[in-house]
Formats: sequence, C-alpha cells, structure tokens
Amino acid sequence: MYQKEKNEVIKAGMTLDRYELIALSGGNISMRIGDHVLVTPSGMIYEDMVEDDVLVVDLFGKVIEGTRKPSVDTGALLYVFRSDENIKAVIHTHQPYATAVGLVTDELPCNLTTMANAVNGSVHVAPYSSTATEQMGIEAVNYLDGRLAVILKHHGVIAVGNSLKQALYACIYLEEAAKTYAIARSLGGTMAMLTDDQIEQAVDVFRYYGQNTPKYPGVADNDSGSIGK
Ligand SMILES: [Zn+2]
Repeated sequence: MYQKEKNEVIKAGMTLDRYELIALSGGNISMRIGDHVLVTPSGMIYEDMVEDDVLVVDLFGKVIEGTRKPSVDTGALLYVFRSDENIKAVIHTHQPYATAVGLVTDELPCNLTTMANAVNGSVHVAPYSSTATEQMGIEAVNYLDGRLAVILKHHGVIAVGNSLKQALYACIYLEEAAKTYAIARSLGGTMAMLTDDQIEQAVDVFRYYGQNTPKYPGVADNDSGSIGK
C-alpha cells in the first residue's frame, strides 16, 4: 500500500543527501496518512532504497507493512505526530550548519526572509536527549513553539510540515539561514535583525509564493492547517 507516497519519501531522502543535510544513512523521513505513518528503515542509504523498504506503522509503532527494521527514532517521530494532527510529515537530519549554531546558542534568530517564509520565525535549540529515545520527540515538541523546525543540541534537526514538501523546505531553508548566520557572525560587528512585523509579513507573503493561489484573501489554497498554534 501507499506505493506513490513511499516513492515520495525515498525521493525526499535523496534530496536531503543532495543538499548535504545528512551523510550516508543518517536521519529519517516519515509521513502520516490517516492513522498510518510511513517511515524509512534503519541504516539504509536513501539511493539504495526501494518502495518496499519503507515501512508502514501505526501511531504507536506497530508494524502494519514491511519487513525492514524501522528507523531507531520511530518512537520519537510518532510522539511528534501524536502531538498535533496537522503534522503530516516529520524529517530528521544531521544538517551541519544548523547543528553547529545549536552548539553556541539557544536560538537561531530569524534574520532572513526565507527563514521566516519556510520556518515561521526563529528556531529554538532543544536540550540534549539520547538518540533512539522517545525523549527526543518530547523535547522536539516542547521546543517547536509554533515553528516548523527545532534544533536538537549535539545532534541535528527535526522539521515538521503539513506535507512532506513543507517539512523538506523547512530543513533546506533553515540550513541556508544557519550558514548565512554563521558567516555573518564570523564577520564580526552587530547582527542586523528583522522586526516582528517584518517577520510576520514575510510569513504571510509565502502563502502566495510560487503557484499557490488563494481561494479568498488571507487563506492560501494549500493551507491545510496551522501547525503548533
Ligand atoms: Zn539522528
């Protein structure tokens, strides 16, 4: 079941690889369909995966379909899904710039319009928790704070979305913002900040970005739920 969606999950994994947000078999991708969750298998390289390697589990981890061992972080991912029914995709990466920023600060400020667009504002750093534990999911939910991503200290990033694409964009634009922030910090001087009004405006503009056409003012066509609010 869900062959098309399983294929999208694998493609998302290859995209993470292309943007250097993971190395080898690191990270994982999961996607919710009703009460089922598609999750990538443990320890497999994305470009080697075929559709049947992606597992279908229920919201409490019972395997519905698949013979592979699911990602070791499945318990954490499922906790994130159960916390908000608007979350339809969770992506976990080891992206280096965002993770590096998490080692020197507790919050990556929202200094770029693209970050406001894709992540909804500044991104918090959740305290360290052991990988492969549900605690990782609990900390992620505690520190998401209405954003579409959270940095896990000493580990990586968890991004969420109302679609796989939204979660993927959050990871990619977060990494771009973290890289730009790191470069700006290395230049010294005072860091310029966006105001709250400017951030809010940038979040709003993205609703109409690309091919999104609003059905009526203020509501984008693909706006299927506000996450974390
Ligand atoms: Zn990890």
